Amino acid sequence: MPRLKKQNIIKRPRKRAIPLQTVKGMRDILPTEQFIWEHILNKSKKLCDDFGFRKIDIPILEYSELFKRGVGQTTDIVEKEMFSFETRGGDKVSLRPEGTAGIARAYIQNGMSRWTQPVKLYQEGSMFRYENPQEGRYREFHHFGFEIFGDGCPAIDAQVIYLAWKIFQKIGVKNLAIQINSIGCSECRPNYKNLLTDYYEMKINKLCVDCRKRLTKNPLRLLDCKEDKCMQVASSAPQIIDHLCGDCHDHFKNTLEFLDELELPYVLNSNLVRGLDYYTRTVFEIWSSDSDSLGRQSSLGGGGRYDDLIGVLGGGDVPAVGFAFGVERVVKKLLSGKISLDKKNTKQVFLVQLGDTAKKKALKLFDKLIDSKVSVGESLGRGSIKSQLKIANRFSSKFALIIGQKEALDGTVIIRDMESGIQEVITMDKVVGEVKRRLKK
Ligand code: AMP
Repeated sequence: MPRLKKQNIIKRPRKRAIPLQTVKGMRDILPTEQFIWEHILNKSKKLCDDFGFRKIDIPILEYSELFKRGVGQTTDIVEKEMFSFETRGGDKVSLRPEGTAGIARAYIQNGMSRWTQPVKLYQEGSMFRYENPQEGRYREFHHFGFEIFGDGCPAIDAQVIYLAWKIFQKIGVKNLAIQINSIGCSECRPNYKNLLTDYYEMKINKLCVDCRKRLTKNPLRLLDCKEDKCMQVASSAPQIIDHLCGDCHDHFKNTLEFLDELELPYVLNSNLVRGLDYYTRTVFEIWSSDSDSLGRQSSLGGGGRYDDLIGVLGGGDVPAVGFAFGVERVVKKLLSGKISLDKKNTKQVFLVQLGDTAKKKALKLFDKLIDSKVSVGESLGRGSIKSQLKIANRFSSKFALIIGQKEALDGTVIIRDMESGIQEVITMDKVVGEVKRRLKK
């Protein structure tokens, strides 16, 4: 064999190792956790249906300008947390950091103002924020949210709060509190912002670095800073409730009266402002206290009225109100509370087979059983009857249907009661009927 000359040896570029882990702040939702997600989403969807909401899906990617204009240029979300990039065609786009701005865009784009008002929509899906990942805070997380467009009545604010509350109750979340405030409108808020800025300027030395920066850009956000020293300053700040215009005052009063009527327990929280620019009047969050001894509270979800958003986006005067909760936070809450949900992956019957002819018969029988709405498990890759019966036990199956070589030739099936171990031979054409009869017992 001729010796290879040096120049004939092709140097392959060394492949970089693939990092076998999720991107920072993102996580897999494994099958073992899915039952709890299904529980949360099914209950939420069912209640939204009952309340007359219809589902909407919108793209994950939107033009960045939508969030800049809708959510607000000076908000943390837009300033620091968006996953933004330019497409090959030069469009500036962002992964959605929240759902409301996109739904508002869809309302305008699809001419929903011509539909019967109010338009009630709900959505679920991934949101993306470039935040510092920590327990309960991810870079990809999931919102379940709902919005009502085209009705400015305070009863609608109360209905949204009521639905949010009811969803958590149905899901089984305990220790809930509704925190509520009004942040006024474009008439009364500027005046309050000036008062607040004057107050904070006098205390500037007592503020954290972030709040000093926020003071000129977004003074309302100083009220909900979680730094101890800022919280102390906030506790004596002027309260917006005392500076609402007549209409906002009446709107808030009426909303609270509706909540009283619905017997919903709420806490007036004058420091609750929410982090997004589009809110007007009612803002609220649903908090849940942790079961640890400190009784710490975390926000499961939040929402409020946003009467100016559709107008800001160019869609005219359409009042609106909405709410969204973080599914991961609720999952965590349910898991820590050790709620008992049926999380076992069970199958009513299990197909056991031996040999190739039996496998073919088993495949056909599997199809007949699922068409007859019998939940059925199988392990077609396994050869031994013993190992397949073990799996049947793991699925808590009531019956095993065994097709051995003899049965495959005879056109019969052995039906085995997994609890008593009693076995009976029946003909293939009678199996489905017999299984259904026995399951009914
Ligand atoms: P927001 O849109 O910021 O009001 O968020 C509404 C809810 O989404 C919060 O109450 C949380 O439950 C959830 N949430 C917000 N940001 C994150 C995040 N980075 N990771 C997980 N959940 C989040």
